[in-house]
Amino acid sequence: MNTIPLQQRLSWQELLSNTVSDAAELCRLLDLDLAALPAGHPLLAQFPVRVPLPFLGRMVKGDPFDPLLLQVFPAMAEASPAPGFETDPLGEAASNPAPGILHKYDGRALLLVTAACAIHCRYCFRRHFPYQDNLPGKQQWQDSLAYIGADTSITEVILSGGDPLTLSDSYLDWFYRQLADFEHVRRIRIHTRLPVMIPQRVTDNLCRILANPRFRTIVVIHSNHAQEIDAAVISACLALKSAGLTLLNQSVLLKQVNDSTDALAALSERLFEAGVLPYYLHLLDRVTGAAHFDVPEQQARELMAALRDRLPGYLVPKLVREQAGAGAKTPAA
Ligand code: SF4
Repeated sequence: MNTIPLQQRLSWQELLSNTVSDAAELCRLLDLDLAALPAGHPLLAQFPVRVPLPFLGRMVKGDPFDPLLLQVFPAMAEASPAPGFETDPLGEAASNPAPGILHKYDGRALLLVTAACAIHCRYCFRRHFPYQDNLPGKQQWQDSLAYIGADTSITEVILSGGDPLTLSDSYLDWFYRQLADFEHVRRIRIHTRLPVMIPQRVTDNLCRILANPRFRTIVVIHSNHAQEIDAAVISACLALKSAGLTLLNQSVLLKQVNDSTDALAALSERLFEAGVLPYYLHLLDRVTGAAHFDVPEQQARELMAALRDRLPGYLVPKLVREQAGAGAKTPAA
């Protein structure tokens, strides 16, 4: 019998296609009683459960309040109406000048390069996004990328989605080569949860592509809790750093997941061990189905004050809120 855990034997592509996609299965694997954790509401058809095995392996069995589990478990509370929570809380539909492109902030444009993610985070602000209207093929991308070529004020392109690192190496390389034609684009920023969800994704070839000397590449990982960052994640992040990339983290402040000074301080410390600087702590985007994660702004400010007392400045993320129509993220503390 092979005693090596399954997640250590599979390639990143196999791990990406072999995720847990059912709440009952998730409970069974974690020795939890599904009857005590009711799931199965109507929103699940539109935004199903998706949990990669390496992330699952970091959850504590038998703990219904595990901070990693709470990020992926489809609680019945998602189906409760909540005033002020909407399907497009950031008004992104108004900043979509060409298929696959969002242009919200001066100097930066965001490419929605895929709808796929390794994980479905229940608080995701794009959980209702109309990806079907925003997934150009390579031919259509040529037209959409012309928008970036024509606007010489765009110096930074953000690859987002979905998760851009779910794309194959060759497709990522294709985006790098297309963007290299635009002299004004100097930086590429990649927003991804893959190095945390499936650290096996960080291969030598990926590091080579992202280290393209034509650009400075910034990788913004998305980790919300220190428990997410095990030895494999640290190795993956350090490999990206060794390739010369800048590594930052953004988190979302989530009720019961990381809404304590201890949790936030531990996350910052752990990130630093992985060569990653804490960058943003986002107040929750008010998306339909996520109200049960909301932390009041006053409580968030108090947490930040306590964090500043406890940590050196470089380990304290900026507390921000993203507001529809604003020209930048809005500082909240
Ligand atoms: S990985 Fe990012 S885009 Fe995908 S569900 Fe999570 S927060 Fe949303």
